[in-house]
Amino acid sequence: MEPLALYIHWPFCLSKCPYCDFNSHVRERIDQARFAAALRAELAWEAARLGRRPLASVFFGGGTPSLMAPKTVAALLADATRLFAPLPDMEITLEANPTSVEAAKLAAFRDAGVNRVSLGVQSLEPEALRRLGRQHTAAQAMAALELARRLFARFSFDLIYARPGQSPRSWRAELRQALELAGDHLSLYQLTIEPGTRFEALHRRGELVLPDADAAGTLYDATGEEAARFGLLAYEVSNYARPGGESRHNLAYWRYGDYAGIGPGAHGRVSVGGALLATRRHRAPEPWAELVERQGHGTAEETAVAPAERAREMLLMGLRLSEGIDVARFAARTGVALAQALDADTLRRALAEGYLEQGGGRLRATPEGRKRLDALLAALVA
Ligand code: SF4
Repeated sequence: MEPLALYIHWPFCLSKCPYCDFNSHVRERIDQARFAAALRAELAWEAARLGRRPLASVFFGGGTPSLMAPKTVAALLADATRLFAPLPDMEITLEANPTSVEAAKLAAFRDAGVNRVSLGVQSLEPEALRRLGRQHTAAQAMAALELARRLFARFSFDLIYARPGQSPRSWRAELRQALELAGDHLSLYQLTIEPGTRFEALHRRGELVLPDADAAGTLYDATGEEAARFGLLAYEVSNYARPGGESRHNLAYWRYGDYAGIGPGAHGRVSVGGALLATRRHRAPEPWAELVERQGHGTAEETAVAPAERAREMLLMGLRLSEGIDVARFAARTGVALAQALDADTLRRALAEGYLEQGGGRLRATPEGRKRLDALLAALVA
């Protein structure tokens, strides 16, 4: 049986960051008890049809799950470990923002069973934090990282780079400062303009200008070099880890494993009775909770993923990883031979030009290929 990765979405934030298109909502008052009960009910509903499968990881994402009451996290983990069969080294991650209020709850989250935190630091520069609309200061971020190090054997944090006007020199300096504080994992994302965000409006009006593709490529190369100097290697386009520190939960997505998504807007891919189901929950928090209260789950859409679509999805995910795609697993998981899923001419050219490589039963994108992955995939996926 495919081990399961379990994602639980907490949809609320203190404020909306101007670059963010996640399913996050700001409310004056949150009915914690109602949302805790709805999450537990939807988890029980999903588990009833999945059966007592091996559970490899749990990930509390958002939104800002560090705004959850620790007792809600404890209750959901007690449910998950009763309803599924936890693997001995189960990874339990919670995303947290480094405000002082949330940092003060980290010990309680650990006591609730969380064994890994991922902190939304985003920058160590005060002016950049202000422009990114973050609620915390650089000093608070550093204090939260120190605390995470004391409390958890494993922790990660996120930074956003390729910001307006950022030079390779200033990014290298900021990144080095961050790497001094790093645990076993870092997520380093380039700033992108997402539809419907405040940054999109500024960008459209010419008031926010991102580095062009060449400048962004230079910053990407600098990122990999600096991270490697501190022993953190790129195992995915935007994720860096010490060997063994990779996010097991996120690896389940990229390796196209089974994952169940609980909570408003959460997506899942779960094997049920020989079919692979794509599941999506209702996005808006209150209507989602009403649906759960009425029928036990807040599913907005559920479809069986056909073999050709499975192949496309697994390619888009797997080539993000430096380990690439296991050819035998690809055929077993999708029902399509890898060669059948690729445009033969593009494959030949990409291999000859050094953007892809194959060997040892795997197909992988080279570092140069991962740098231009979107264009490569657009041509490659038949
Ligand atoms: S805290 Fe995170 S999820 Fe919430 S709005 Fe900001 S970036 Fe989005």
